[in-house]
Amino acid sequence: MNLLIMGPPGAGKGTQAEVLVKELGITHISTGDMFREAIKQGTEMGKKAKEYMDKGELVPDEVVVGMVKHRLSQPDCAKGFLLDGFPRTLAQAKALDETLQSMGIGLDGVINIDVPREKLMARLTGRRVCKNCGASYHILFNPPAYAGKCNACGGELYQRSDDNEEAVSNRLDVYAAQTQPLIDYYKEKGLLKNINGDQEIKKVLADILASLGK
Ligand SMILES: [Zn+2]
Repeated sequence: MNLLIMGPPGAGKGTQAEVLVKELGITHISTGDMFREAIKQGTEMGKKAKEYMDKGELVPDEVVVGMVKHRLSQPDCAKGFLLDGFPRTLAQAKALDETLQSMGIGLDGVINIDVPREKLMARLTGRRVCKNCGASYHILFNPPAYAGKCNACGGELYQRSDDNEEAVSNRLDVYAAQTQPLIDYYKEKGLLKNINGDQEIKKVLADILASLGK
């Protein structure tokens, strides 16, 4: 099975991707991990990508597409793959279609993990970090033993500025605006599987498998 997984920040996409590839015995292709790896290894593509990232710019489509294309041609992708973090734009989606077509394969499904916005806000604004030692907590999922105090060192916990309501809300808006054309594109192709991500991890996985006829 050749799949793609999408979901807003905080939807649990990473967790689902991990369990899903194990369940289906397919290869996980995370473009984020791929970039970090290519940069670490100093490959040609990695060097190119790093140039843009160092300047704080988006890595251009041709570089991203080139990396994905190369990755998809590796033998471990023949058993099926789950693309994660790519495509991010309609142009990338079309480039992916062309690449897959030239390989004589196609996508079997596009999993879109859906979580109500207020739940995402709660998940994403809940992080607290220790001013003293940098230990990380979450007021819902990993609360400290004493409110506002670090378990490890007793230091004061604070909310990073990129975790505040305004920043998170903005991040979700950007994601939604960027992703809507992709959702429409795959919906039109009959590939889109909308999955309720506001459930237990196991239940989300079961719903994904059911949507794929597994
Ligand atoms: Zn601490």
